[in-house]
Order: sequence, then structure tokens, then C-alpha cells
Amino acid sequence: MHGPDEKLTRLEALAQEAADAVTPGVQVAEGVERADVDAVNRREERSLYKKRARIHPKRAYGTFRQLKWLIMAVTLGIYYVTPWLRWDRGAGPDQAVLLDLPHRKFYFFFVEIWPQEIYLLTGVLIISALALFLFTSLFGRVWCGYSCPQTVWTDLFIAVERFIEGDRNARIRLDKMPWNASKLSKKVTKHLIWLVIAVLTGGAWVFYFRDAPTLLGELVTLQAPMAAVAFIGIFTFTTYSLGGLMREQVCIYMCPWPRIQGAMFDEDSLLVTYRERRGEPRAAHKKGESWENRGDCIRCRQCVAVCPMGIDIRDGPQLECIHCALCIDACNEVMAKIGRPPNLIGYETFRNLEAANSGRYAPVRFFRPRVIVYSVLIAALALLMVYALFTRDTLSLSILRDRNPLYVTLSDGSVRNGYTLKIINRKHEPRFFRIDASGMAGSKLVVMGLREPEIDVSADDIRSVKVFISGPSPAGGKQALTIAVTDTQDGRTASEATTFRGPE
Ligand code: SF4
Ligand code: SF4
Repeated sequence: MHGPDEKLTRLEALAQEAADAVTPGVQVAEGVERADVDAVNRREERSLYKKRARIHPKRAYGTFRQLKWLIMAVTLGIYYVTPWLRWDRGAGPDQAVLLDLPHRKFYFFFVEIWPQEIYLLTGVLIISALALFLFTSLFGRVWCGYSCPQTVWTDLFIAVERFIEGDRNARIRLDKMPWNASKLSKKVTKHLIWLVIAVLTGGAWVFYFRDAPTLLGELVTLQAPMAAVAFIGIFTFTTYSLGGLMREQVCIYMCPWPRIQGAMFDEDSLLVTYRERRGEPRAAHKKGESWENRGDCIRCRQCVAVCPMGIDIRDGPQLECIHCALCIDACNEVMAKIGRPPNLIGYETFRNLEAANSGRYAPVRFFRPRVIVYSVLIAALALLMVYALFTRDTLSLSILRDRNPLYVTLSDGSVRNGYTLKIINRKHEPRFFRIDASGMAGSKLVVMGLREPEIDVSADDIRSVKVFISGPSPAGGKQALTIAVTDTQDGRTASEATTFRGPE
């Protein structure tokens, strides 16, 4: 631990570092004292609980910022618009993407997944996880930096904050100034807009679970189910608090991914990196001064000012870094102004950082064992799932044999067992089925309430029927038999083996 005097000296040194960067056209990041306190705390204090240092990310301009705007627009667009897409299935709901919990079905455009096919969703989750591993090993935390919902919504909330309160310097000034009418109105406006976004986010989520136009009508007329209202409330709260208030703390303290994603990196992973060999020794630079015997970093701290995590990329790889690449944009802007080559901060591999010491550079190796293994696994699983999806049967049968009583002895000495059949018709049209038992001589099958063992099942539906099979008492008290249902029109059959029990 360092004493207060020593910490003050370091703060002064950091403030001096910022003040030194006086290259014309490059603005020193105001509010550097805030980042300094954060940096000193992070590096030097090891207390169990740390007070949060508020971060005021500056607006970045450049390729990666544009890319992030584009990804934000696409992902938010998909999220908000998807529940309103319609899909004509003939029978059943016409919502393209719907998680129909009461009927235990998931609709995704032309795909309809029943509870018995949950393995298809499991497959999608496994493929998503493998894809995350693949992209992390190739490009670092691209998921975190560009498309994680936490990143996207935080970025949106910061954009609103910037729109209302101004860019970094204005926001720092606003936070420091005493409360007055102007400050109050800006803060209230910002939080109200955040709340509207949060309500829309929570509202969009529940539309995935119920027909969206119907639910919207119910919400407007205050007739929506309590569960929908409760979930809108929960998601409004989580969106507002995680995206607006907690922001980077979610990534640093709540998310487990930063702690495990390091295992996916290798020496060929492209990571956002400060090219220390080129940047050091860093020093302030005045127009017209020589660039001999010094690095390209002019200590302007623009890379720190734009960082949504409040870190300094020049300190090396850090758990907090989400690889959003905004520091690349900020530094490239500086390099353009001072006439130095771009990409002092850029996507770089550990291998090339090492090689740079000996002046050698190698092309990035994209095809390497772990990338190939992840790719092969993703392709194999995807093929398997497509095969399973397109070859799955439109008819399923499950049988539950009565256990109480196990059997009934009839007056003529024969024995009767009871079974409950669940017949699933996955076709979008009603079907008729004949029910048969086989494998046991002298057996007789009766469907409860019907004269003939034939039943109809509605389109996209499950029907349960009670069936009784009677026959001679089996030797040894047990006899194997098979029950089958056959479509009377197309002849498709589903069967399941079961047992016929009697006295031992
Ligand atoms: S790395 Fe670039 S943006 Fe960061 S302080 Fe150095 S010159 Fe400025
Ligand atoms: S250091 Fe750079 S890449 Fe990492 S979070 Fe900050 S701005 Fe993004």
C-alpha cells in the first residue's frame, strides 16, 4: 500500500503527463484527474471494496465507431422488429418467432419445435457457444465489444446521455457543478428517456411469448395478463439499471466471460493492442519538433478519454478491456493530426508483438488447430441439426402403462392392462389413426369411449387416449408387446414397446 503523499505525487505526475501533451490540434482529455484517481486506485489499492469511479466516455470518430453504430442499429432493429413479423403456417399462430409456453412450442419461421425436440435448441446453444469460442480465438472479445446486449444497450444509453448533457468535458463539468434548474432538467430528461428505452426493451421481450398485436391491444386497454406486466417491469428495471446505471461494472464484476475468455486466446489471436515498441518512449510533442529517439505516443490520453471501461490500453492487456476498438479510432485521429502513421493502437497478435522486437513481421495465421477444431465442430453440428430437422417424423407416440392397478383379472380369467397413449400430430392438418397391439397372441385392444380403435388428432396437436388391452394371463407374469398408431391415409406408423403384466 502507498501512503497518501505518495499517491498524491503519482496523481500529480499523471496530471503533468496530460498537461505535457500540448501538440496543437490535439486536445488533452479534460477530467484527467478522474481517470487518474481510477488508475491509481486500480493499480495500487487492493481493498476488498472499491468505490466506483464514474466514467465519462468521449465520443469517438472512425471506422470502428461507425461499425459499432451499424451493429447497434442492426441488433436493436432485429430485437424490436422480430415479434411483429408474421408467418403463414396454415394452422397455429402466425407469429414468425414465438415461444408459446402454454402449448410448450417454439416457432421460428418455418421451424416448429416441440418439447420432445428440445435437443434442437440445445444444439443451437452449443453451436452459439462454439461460435463464440471461434470468434474469440480469432479476434478477441468481439462479442463483448460489438454485439453483447450489455454493450449495445450501454452504448445506446451513453449516446442518449451525450445527446442531453454533451460530450465528455461537458458531462464532467455538469457532474461537478452544484444543482440548479438547468442541471436538474438535463438529468431528469436523460433518466426519462432511459426509462422509455427500458420500458420498450421490456415490452419487446414479452412480445416474443404471446401474439404481439393481441398483447399490445391488451396492454393498451389494461387487460394484459399480470405475468406480462410483471415481466415488463422486471426487464425495464434490469435494462435501466444494467445499461444506464451500472454500465461497465456489469462487465467487470458480474459477467464471468472476461475471466474465461483468456483461455481462448493464443499467440495468433488478433487483439486490440498498444504497439509499445512504436509508441515508447512516450512524450509530449510540439509542432516542428523532431521525432528522433522517441515514440509516437504524445501522451494526449485520447485513447483513455473514449474508453467506455475507463482504462488505459497502454498499460497492456487488461481484464476490463472489452476490445471495442474505440481507442484505435481515437488514436488514429490523433496520429492523422500530428502526421504520424495510423494504428499505434490496432489489432495485433502476440506473435507479431514478439517478432517486432527483432524487426520481423509474419502474416496472421487464421488457419490454426483450435480454429479448425471449432470450425469443424460447428459445421458437423449444424449439418447434424439440419438433417435432424428435415428428417424428423410428423408423428410421435409415447406410452405410459398404468401402475395402479398393475392389472385387473376379468371374470373369464383373462387379464386386462391399462395404457395412456400420447399421439403427436406435427402436420398442419387433422389426421386419423388406427391403434393396434402386436406381439401377444390373443390380445384385444379397446380405446376407452370408442367402438373402433380409431381416433382423430387435430392439426399441430397432441391427443391423449386411454387404451385397454386384455388377453390370457402371461407366463411368468410378464409379456412384451408393441402398440402402434398408423395414419389411415398415408400409412405412416409410430410404435413403442411396452409390457403386459399379470399374476406371477
Ligand atoms: S496511444 Fe495515442 S491516443 Fe493514447 S495517449 Fe498515446 S497518442 Fe494519445
Ligand atoms: S482499452 Fe480500447 S478496446 Fe479496450 S475497452 Fe477501452 S477503448 Fe475499448
